[in-house]
Amino acid sequence: MIPTSGELLLSPGEEHDPLDEDGHSPVPGLIHRYPDRVLFLVTDYCSSYCRYCTRSRMVGWRAGASKARWQKAIAYIGANQQIRDVLISGGDPLTIPDHHLEWLLSRLRKIEHVELIRIGTKAPIFLPQRITPDLVAMLKGYHPLWMSIHCTHPDELTPEVGAALARLADAGIPLGSQTVLLAGINDSVETMKTLMQGLVRNRVKPYYLYQCDPITGSAHFRTPVAKGLEIYQGLRGHTTGYAVPNYVIDAPGGGGKIPLLPVDPADGTGVFHDFRVTGLRAG
Ligand code: SF4
Repeated sequence: MIPTSGELLLSPGEEHDPLDEDGHSPVPGLIHRYPDRVLFLVTDYCSSYCRYCTRSRMVGWRAGASKARWQKAIAYIGANQQIRDVLISGGDPLTIPDHHLEWLLSRLRKIEHVELIRIGTKAPIFLPQRITPDLVAMLKGYHPLWMSIHCTHPDELTPEVGAALARLADAGIPLGSQTVLLAGINDSVETMKTLMQGLVRNRVKPYYLYQCDPITGSAHFRTPVAKGLEIYQGLRGHTTGYAVPNYVIDAPGGGGKIPLLPVDPADGTGVFHDFRVTGLRAG
């Protein structure tokens, strides 16, 4: 979370909005890229200001949370019957007060075609005291509600984090995790295995391992794709299947998530024969 001079360098392929989220935003604060689901950015405040954040262009710019903006997004969701899944993100939605969050959840739950609500947050990891019994009791009233947790390193799995995750899991909230592969921070098989096993121990299913998005000034965080494949190979078959996340690149320009699997040197095809990586580079 500490800024370094590396952020001042603009490298080839880097952009403020590499996934073209702004180009897929029908109303402010809502990204509608895939037909049946939307990303609802409810605040630009965050519990942590990751230097590699995909939304660095907006997170922490103090626009805060605005009910008028939320209402426009909710009206859009209500008017588009194909939307069955709403991912509430930001910033970090758990930085807004419980009664505002409940206002949002209750409005979304009133929309009949919204089957699933998800919350993307780093609060259970970075601000575990935010996961109070009152918050969890409120969230429990809006099932099916899933939570996607952002976790970077096994050192983050403190006893306080363990207690926060247990409160959420005990409330029947399915927990998944996202991790960004970061050079010099978590780019080893050992670190990643410890993290993934620790998450599973805390009832969190490791879901995505992301190649670091090419946001402006992030080259010092990016590893070669080969490093991610090496880590994937070091996990697959070497630990519980539940502890193996999908290694993906979020394709520049909004092309969606591309899963990557190691190539089998024996026959040159993907080990699992469903995807082949050739000449693909990020950043
Ligand atoms: S927790 Fe997520 S939204 Fe917040 S700064 Fe980190 S990557 Fe960005």
